[in-house]
Amino acid sequence: MSESSSHQSDVLVIGGGIHGLSTAFHLAQRGVNVRVIEAEYCGRHASGVNAGGVRTLGRHTPEIPLALSSRELWHELRQVLGDDGGFVPSGQLKLAESPAELQACRERVEHLQALGFSHEVLVDQQQVFEIIPTVAPHVVGGIWVKDDGYAVPYKAVTAFRRAAEKLGVPVHENSPAQRIEQTGNHWTVTTTGAMYRAEHLVVTAGAWAGELAAQVGEAVPVHPEGLMLMVTHRVAPFCAPVLGATGRALSFKQFANGTVVIGGKLMGSLDFPARHGEVDMARLGTSARTVTDLFPHLKHLGVNRVWAGVEAFTADDLPVIGASRKASNLSYSFGFCGSGFQMGPGTGRRLAQQILGEHSDISLDAFAIDRFNNGAAATPLMPLQHSSTIAQH
Ligand SMILES: Cc1cc2nc3c(=O)[nH]c(=O)nc-3n(C[C@H](O)[C@H](O)[C@H](O)COP(=O)(O)OP(=O)(O)OC[C@H]3O[C@@H](n4cnc5c(N)ncnc54)[C@H](O)[C@@H]3O)c2cc1C
Repeated sequence: MSESSSHQSDVLVIGGGIHGLSTAFHLAQRGVNVRVIEAEYCGRHASGVNAGGVRTLGRHTPEIPLALSSRELWHELRQVLGDDGGFVPSGQLKLAESPAELQACRERVEHLQALGFSHEVLVDQQQVFEIIPTVAPHVVGGIWVKDDGYAVPYKAVTAFRRAAEKLGVPVHENSPAQRIEQTGNHWTVTTTGAMYRAEHLVVTAGAWAGELAAQVGEAVPVHPEGLMLMVTHRVAPFCAPVLGATGRALSFKQFANGTVVIGGKLMGSLDFPARHGEVDMARLGTSARTVTDLFPHLKHLGVNRVWAGVEAFTADDLPVIGASRKASNLSYSFGFCGSGFQMGPGTGRRLAQQILGEHSDISLDAFAIDRFNNGAAATPLMPLQHSSTIAQH
């Protein structure tokens, strides 16, 4: 390996999706010498091709504090990054289509209130029609979260990338990490054309992160899935908030240009070795019918484009975030199970705090990598001494 193809930094981030770039940005903001390597190009996978939902509605309980704190950052993105990532605070509404579904919504809201969370609010039929007058009359109510919304995925990822680069973070694209190895207190990462050395390693490689964790003997039940979306032709504005449904898969939003993006964790299939998802038109058809049930006037609207992105799912539907339990100075953030775009800003900030040994009011314990194997002994995280800079950018 020639001298020119060897790079050093305090922290090396593997993966240029929203989680890698947000973590790199938040570390660089605190003066850390950090570098990012990306196998293809930043935002190529889930972070750049998702539905853009910024949703705290319907989260698993352990995720709620982190999701709420991430949502605060979405609202401040323009001030923090100089670019709002296309964020629109449109609100999100989950529709109930029967009394039984409305009862399930009521129980959910009461359960959250008992836990001290008040962001999800039960709404009746009349309130739904005030929020979205064009919806079909069989809808009986739902859950409303007014501070949720949506953003433009590739724009948001690029905003984190540009902000990190402005702080001096080098981003190396077409640089797939092949081997990660720790020798003494340094990590060495080998790609096809270069070698990277760093004191601390952060693995944010999405659906591929499990392969890297396995290299340090930290097997984790994470698997890839192909998630599908479709986007329609333009139609006159009829729907401001993001919509979901209680009894069937749906995530639905109309962008300012009139197009409607339809998804809702719709599983397609996957060609994992070729690194891309494949669509299943029959399943997309079912989803289109859900939309026309709710908005009959869309019956003749054409579909412009369909696609499937690659996403990482874990065995318990929660992400892995935090320190390795096998190796020192190794952190993870992956396995967001179809809902990690919203979590990107806040998770990057919290992971950076943990790496630096800073206090955080939000615990990452629920996301520990060893939760799947009944709690192996933890390796203490050595806070990064970023004043002892080992390399120049
Ligand atoms: C179709 C679809 C719709 C979705 N809709 C929503 C939504 O509305 N709201 C929401 O919150 N979430 C949504 N999600 C989920 C969300 O997109 C993901 O959870 C999130 O983007 C994951 O970000 P990430 O940075 O962990 O992973 P990724 O975006 O996958 O980034 C990981 C990066 O690591 C790179 N990489 C992999 N291996 C290596 C290696 N060895 N070396 C270097 N780089 C490597 C990859 O090329 C990739 O760019 C959706 C996902 C999909 C697919």
